Amino acid sequence: MYEVRAPGRVNLIGEHTDYTGGDAMPIATDLHTALTAEPADHVEVSSAALDADGRFDPTGFEPDGTWLDYVKGVYHVLRADGYDPGGFRGELGGDLPLGSGLSSSASLELAVLAFLEDAYDLGIDRTELALLGQRVENDYVGVSCGVMDQFAVALCRAGSALHIDTGTLASDPVPIPADARVLVFHTGVERELVDSAYNERRSTVEAALDRLGRDSSKAVTEADLAELPALERQRLGYIRRENQRVVEAKDALTAGDLDRFGDLLTAAHRDIADNYGASCPELDLVVRAAVDAGAYGARLTGAGWGGAAVAVVDVENADAVARAVESRYAEQFPHHDSESYLIEPSAGVTVERQSRS
Ligand code: ADP
Ligand code: MG
Repeated sequence: MYEVRAPGRVNLIGEHTDYTGGDAMPIATDLHTALTAEPADHVEVSSAALDADGRFDPTGFEPDGTWLDYVKGVYHVLRADGYDPGGFRGELGGDLPLGSGLSSSASLELAVLAFLEDAYDLGIDRTELALLGQRVENDYVGVSCGVMDQFAVALCRAGSALHIDTGTLASDPVPIPADARVLVFHTGVERELVDSAYNERRSTVEAALDRLGRDSSKAVTEADLAELPALERQRLGYIRRENQRVVEAKDALTAGDLDRFGDLLTAAHRDIADNYGASCPELDLVVRAAVDAGAYGARLTGAGWGGAAVAVVDVENADAVARAVESRYAEQFPHHDSESYLIEPSAGVTVERQSRS
């Protein structure tokens, strides 16, 4: 029997950078997906969160538009790369909320990938597993996403953020000062425009890079920006500054300077709101309320247009900030189903083999 624990992720800074080879710096969450599984001929898997189960033959299956496609997608990408893992009998549990901006989808993919890798000795390292997870979404489920989520879930270390260069795929841990806490506040806003807005932003900056003949947003100079049409200049200008902020934020964390780190987060929020157009009144209020209540800094996290915001707070006033944000939010948006989580920066996916008793 195998016990797999796959975290979710929260991005601290470096938003909308992971599809142009830019930098990002997420943490893995203590909230996690648990998978208890053992090898079998078929795949038979149940999900406690959805009170559902499914079964398929790992050598022949079709997508069915349900959650099971994330599991089938894992077999799809592995088989496309020439691997031939057998099936498994498994139960999905854990406490990671689904669809709350903590990337339960990447967590599920990596839980299944890491189990199969271990149980069937596939010999695939964690970086490759992360890239396979991204392909599950891109090629099988049909969700356009960068590599950040899967990298965080696969490679984070406990007590650290993970600096990722999404161009070179180099990643390294950045220790987080012990007195810092990470507060995530989900606005309860699910905007239908997220997918279309994400795709629109993505094609705008990809067009800008094409026009400049650059293959990474990190190679873009001020002089390059001046050559672009106004909208492309505005969008890519944000990404260029965001990449620089990630590097500064890494230095600030390394130096234990949480004031500086927080200021960078709040500046990142202003910039993504003003120049990438990815915020909304709910997210703006959460950021303002958190900073007013004494957070080091705050910003939207994830794609934006709803979803969640993240605030970095001192352990001493973490609860007070959370309560202050909750009450201001409830006053302003009484009908939104919001939720807040205090996150412990945790390790990436782990697999333990339990001996039978
Ligand atoms: P997020 O990744 O932000 O949580 P997504 O919409 O990308 O939101 O992914 C959520 C989907 O992933 C769920 O609707 C479900 O299909 C699948 N999923 C994630 N975790 C589980 C789980 N434990 N059991 C079943 N399905 C899951
Ligand atoms: Mg997801």
